[in-house]
Amino acid sequence: MELRGVNFLLFLFMNQVFISLQSKEQVLLDMKALGSELGWLTLPHENGWEIVQTVVNGSLFYTYSVCSIDSGEQDNWLRTTFIQRRPGISRVSVELRFVVRDCNTFDGSSVACKETFNLFISEADADVGTNFRKGQFRKVATIAPDEVTRGRLLKVNIETKTVEPLSKKGFYLAFQDVGACVALLSARVYYKTCPSTVQSLAAFPETVADALKEVEGVCVQNAISQASPRIYCTAEGEWVVPVGQCQCLPGYETTGDSCQECKPGYFKPSVSTDLCQVCPDNTKPSSAGATECVCEDGFFRSPSDPPTSACSAPPSAPRDLTSTTLSVEGRLLLSWTPPLVTGGREDLTYSATCEICDEALCVPCGDRIRFETSPTDFQDTQIVVSELDSHLNYTFTVEAHSGVSQYGTDPASTTITTALDYTDPPKVTSIHLDDRGPTSLSLSWTLSRRPPAHISLRYELMYRRKDAEVERDVTTYTVLILEKNFVQINDLTPDTTYLLRVQALSVGGSPGSYSVEHEFHTSPLAESQTQNKPTMVLGAVVGVAVILLVVVAVLLLRRRRMNLHGRGGPEDPCFHTDQLKPLKSYVDPHMYEDPNIAIQKFVSEIDPNAITKQKVIGVGEFGEVFRGVMKIHGKDEVTVAIKTLKPGYSEKQRQDFLSEASIMGQFSHPNIIRLEGVVTKFKHAMIVTEYMENGALDTYLKDHDGEIPSYQLLGMLRGIAAGMKYLSDMNYIHRDLAARNVLVNSSLECKVSDFGLSRVLEDDAEGTYTTRGGKIPIRWTAPEAIAYRKFTSASDVWSFGIVMWEVMAFGERPYWDMSNHEVMKAINEAFRLPAPMDCPSAIYQLMLQCWQHDRSKRPRFTDILNILDKLLRNPESLKTIADFDPRVSIRLPSTSGCDGTMFRSVPEWLESIKMSQYTDSFARAGITSMEQVLALRHEDIRNIGVRLPGHMKRIAYSILGLKDETSSLSVFAV
Ligand code: AMP
Repeated sequence: MELRGVNFLLFLFMNQVFISLQSKEQVLLDMKALGSELGWLTLPHENGWEIVQTVVNGSLFYTYSVCSIDSGEQDNWLRTTFIQRRPGISRVSVELRFVVRDCNTFDGSSVACKETFNLFISEADADVGTNFRKGQFRKVATIAPDEVTRGRLLKVNIETKTVEPLSKKGFYLAFQDVGACVALLSARVYYKTCPSTVQSLAAFPETVADALKEVEGVCVQNAISQASPRIYCTAEGEWVVPVGQCQCLPGYETTGDSCQECKPGYFKPSVSTDLCQVCPDNTKPSSAGATECVCEDGFFRSPSDPPTSACSAPPSAPRDLTSTTLSVEGRLLLSWTPPLVTGGREDLTYSATCEICDEALCVPCGDRIRFETSPTDFQDTQIVVSELDSHLNYTFTVEAHSGVSQYGTDPASTTITTALDYTDPPKVTSIHLDDRGPTSLSLSWTLSRRPPAHISLRYELMYRRKDAEVERDVTTYTVLILEKNFVQINDLTPDTTYLLRVQALSVGGSPGSYSVEHEFHTSPLAESQTQNKPTMVLGAVVGVAVILLVVVAVLLLRRRRMNLHGRGGPEDPCFHTDQLKPLKSYVDPHMYEDPNIAIQKFVSEIDPNAITKQKVIGVGEFGEVFRGVMKIHGKDEVTVAIKTLKPGYSEKQRQDFLSEASIMGQFSHPNIIRLEGVVTKFKHAMIVTEYMENGALDTYLKDHDGEIPSYQLLGMLRGIAAGMKYLSDMNYIHRDLAARNVLVNSSLECKVSDFGLSRVLEDDAEGTYTTRGGKIPIRWTAPEAIAYRKFTSASDVWSFGIVMWEVMAFGERPYWDMSNHEVMKAINEAFRLPAPMDCPSAIYQLMLQCWQHDRSKRPRFTDILNILDKLLRNPESLKTIADFDPRVSIRLPSTSGCDGTMFRSVPEWLESIKMSQYTDSFARAGITSMEQVLALRHEDIRNIGVRLPGHMKRIAYSILGLKDETSSLSVFAV
């Protein structure tokens, strides 16, 4: 019966532990809960501790009590049942509730009365049942009441003792009474745990709290963390200091202590603590657990858009692109309205490009125009373009861009072809006196800008005698309406001052503003009449006076030119506004006994410290040519070309070197290379000229083969012709005009260079000694100059014809690899260079005119300039292309295969047409035999990688020529 009672208690006790698993205090034994069935042992059995049913504060309890205070020495034991220790628990708390009666309430009869009792413990690996031996117990504590009970009101004391260390499977507690009057109301044995918990989506197991302990947790389902989450369990059973955090996976969000799938229509893109978001605009509805919302058809995200962003559509084209000519010369405002579809994006930008197109092809405007602000990636709906030529039509394309424009199927660009459209005619900026007589004035004037090609201007010129003011007839002007920008006014009064002004009229006759009033004086009668008189003396006097006048004018103009020499404003090569007319004649520096005088007269000396050389850009006869900068005090730094005289020169070489400067220094024209000055008072003499960014014309053209449209080539030729007209007006004969001696600046303006007295004889690699001695560049030189050294402006015109051919053939060598001897023979037999490919017929006709054998039949530079101007004004005239025969125009005569033989290999053929750069491309495309070449079609050539229209044509024409076996050189003859 007793054993059964113990087992029953044990069962209850086990249940208790199990049930209280979730609590912070895990109870191993609770006397109160066990009620009357405690089954504790008492010793001695009859006396001492006994079980009592007690009412404490109105409640019924089973308690143990003892009160043996009269019978001398007491040793009463009360032992619990076997309390099993749980694994890992090394200490337990024992909480006792008890009442101790005050010994003084016992009439002083019991001297042995005590007011304390003792707590003992005994560990065991098995339940020993009733086998109770006091000697096996060790004392834990003496239990003393805080308050003893004196009257009827019981004073309940609570005392908690910690029992440790524990190591065996279980233990017994025992209470020893040594003569007190005690009621043990309850005894509770328990240990503490930190309960299992989920903190920041990490689950931590229930943990025994017997010392501060670090506990590792695991993330709940669908959550992860970078480092494993941890937390501390204190001895008091509290979780403290959580470390690390778990976060829900993409597509899941935190709901309480777990991660739940995003609902349909929501998404979460990343591992985070964020909640799922509603799918953004223009996306398809998502399913549950979505990590992103896919764009609806026709909508996109740019690679830089976050997956959380709305999807957007590519922009449509900008609208209403218009151009407005601005009042400042050469400027145009392009403006437009934003695209109809911006796609719902904020990053809309525009880019603008410019092309010049003819029917066949468009070329980028490049440096020829300037966008005043960056033409890419801008947000304004307008942009200003400047440096436009009023002669040209420009095609502008404005494109809208956004982060998703690459996905667009329709072009987001709009294009306009436009030209400067001035409502006002240009201004007459200056009037020049070209010639005068006693009764006539020859005048010409310049304009602030070129009128558009399709507009022919007229001019209104008003003049009156200045002395009319004296006669009070200031209102009577003679008015002339003129078609050209020059006039000769006749029937004037000799030796009289005239006041004169001019204005340009546009087509409809609307006037521009008048030029300022100029004064010109007719020459006195004597000036011309005396020349007719036979009186030698008078003639000599007048002659001397005229020479003096010329010298004075030369010096005055020279000085003025030096002073005026502004380099700020670009000069229009066609309508230059330089107030200075050319000097009537250039002065040969060799006329001076001391060439240094010529240098002093015509050239300004530069302080060598003002010059910094930067880079070698060429090699001339006398030494290296550098690009550098010149910084003259009080002026902006300018880029210059610096020609140097190499060390070890003779005095003669030095003078020859500097003679080029004394010649150049006399010229002032936008198409003649401008001399900045010389350095002579320094060991290394230098000639400093304006810097021409694109270098020599022949090289420039070779580098841009096929890339420049005809009318632009013509514009370049026009510049050269203007420079040559100026030189011929100055009575200067160049003798070595060739594309290699023309320089090109960044605006593609061409300027004639290479002036030197000995240059043809020594400086030019093309110079060839003739039978009469002296070097002559045969291919460029007129037959009479080769034959009997008759160099004239007409022979310069011949050379100009060759330059025209070089330009139209993109720097091709005239007469290819024919020998000089063969060239001279061919010329004398009336053969002439054939038309280059794609050369407008009118230009080729002009070349042929320049190559008239009879030099008197050749056009003068004035004529050439007029013809070129006319062609430029009327681009339609360039549409007729001269006959072109690939057999003579492309192949080198010696390798041309004109005898009917084929080229032996594809590389050999490509080299012969100067297209070697495509050798690898042909090989890669598997075109290895000439038979395959003959079978090539247009698109095949393009697929091989030939893209430039010029190259395409060259190759296609050559194949055409190869197919036609009946070649001859007949077209070479005029
Ligand atoms: P030259 O001695 O005048 O024939 O000059 C030799 C080379 O130097 C030329 O072919 C050009 O490449 C270069 N060069 C000469 N003068 C200039 C210049 N003013 N600007 C740029 N390059 C120049």
